[in-house]
Amino acid sequence: MKAIAVYPSKREVEIVNHEEPKVARPNEVKLRMLEAGVCGTDKEICAFQYGTPPANFDYLVIGHESLGEVIEVGRAVTRVKVGDLVVPMVRRPCPHASCMACTSGHQDFCFTGDFQERGIKEMHGFMAEFVVDDEKYMNPVPKELRDVAVLVEPLTIAEKALTQVWQVQQRLPWSCAVEPGKAQAHCHRALVLGAGPVGLLGAMALVNNAFDTFVYSREAAPNPKSALLESIGAHYISSEKVAVEELSKVIGNIDLVYEATGASSLSFAVMNALGTNGIFVFTGVPGRKGPIEVDTDLLMRDLVLKNQVVFGTVNAGRDSFENSIRDVGIFAQRWPDAVRALITGRFPMEAHRDLLLGRPEGIKNVIKLG
Ligand SMILES: [Zn+2]
Ligand SMILES: [Zn+2]
Repeated sequence: MKAIAVYPSKREVEIVNHEEPKVARPNEVKLRMLEAGVCGTDKEICAFQYGTPPANFDYLVIGHESLGEVIEVGRAVTRVKVGDLVVPMVRRPCPHASCMACTSGHQDFCFTGDFQERGIKEMHGFMAEFVVDDEKYMNPVPKELRDVAVLVEPLTIAEKALTQVWQVQQRLPWSCAVEPGKAQAHCHRALVLGAGPVGLLGAMALVNNAFDTFVYSREAAPNPKSALLESIGAHYISSEKVAVEELSKVIGNIDLVYEATGASSLSFAVMNALGTNGIFVFTGVPGRKGPIEVDTDLLMRDLVLKNQVVFGTVNAGRDSFENSIRDVGIFAQRWPDAVRALITGRFPMEAHRDLLLGRPEGIKNVIKLG
């Protein structure tokens, strides 16, 4: 079968003829892959920054944002049936019995770092015609989400972040007064850094929780992303118009910052704008570009005197996938045009070079696999 793979040793990205996987164990399912989304992680793997082939392979089949259709099930499978649409999870547990996270099914919090990730670390990914995997990593998706379900995996980043925000903020009186017809965060203001797919999906999740949501990005407005954000009730702020120092004047007390740029200097500058009792979430992984100057006295003063929290989050567990499937459905009903606009185009496997190695236009590009 055909698959898109990267050869780190040869520094090449190409379509390979990969052996079609077979259901070999009673708890396995076989998927015909329908689509895979292209993201920054895939591009970084294709720039040979990371990405590790499985043992005994000199290439890694990439792809971790996907949608598949179940075409065969092992005899012990109960979670899914033939014909179901599924989004598979990405990370697999480490082998260590001492890892409390992995042994309890929370490999997204793995302690040892010896986890595997499909399409990223030591396991082939989903940019292939067929995939076989354990049923426990399958997340069934309603049929009516066929056209948007490829957004489920990238939305899990925001879902996991928001779950943790509510958990952490329980430590202080952060709950808004209950108002009929309004979601729980209606008294809070959130700032998203970056208007890429992670930032835009994060903004949708925040608006859906009723945060007054602002997105801070470089491009001058109006532009297609600012229009998309206004259409869902969020506000776009261009850094060309408003400097970091002015942000809290424009927004008010910033209760939550959701970082989705991977730019550390911008992020630490914005940390100075975080409000009283605020929480700052990092999701980006910056390249190592050398040290920058940060006013640590100011940051430390604010963290203490304003009761602030800063945390980072990576990967996602089953609950985040389930929340994401629910919310992709809600977004598609609430903002059908905006959700459709997130997906820039669907392309054949043969177009992978431009999508993975070039600087393609738009928001989320999708590769059709079957
Ligand atoms: Zn991704
Ligand atoms: Zn582990």
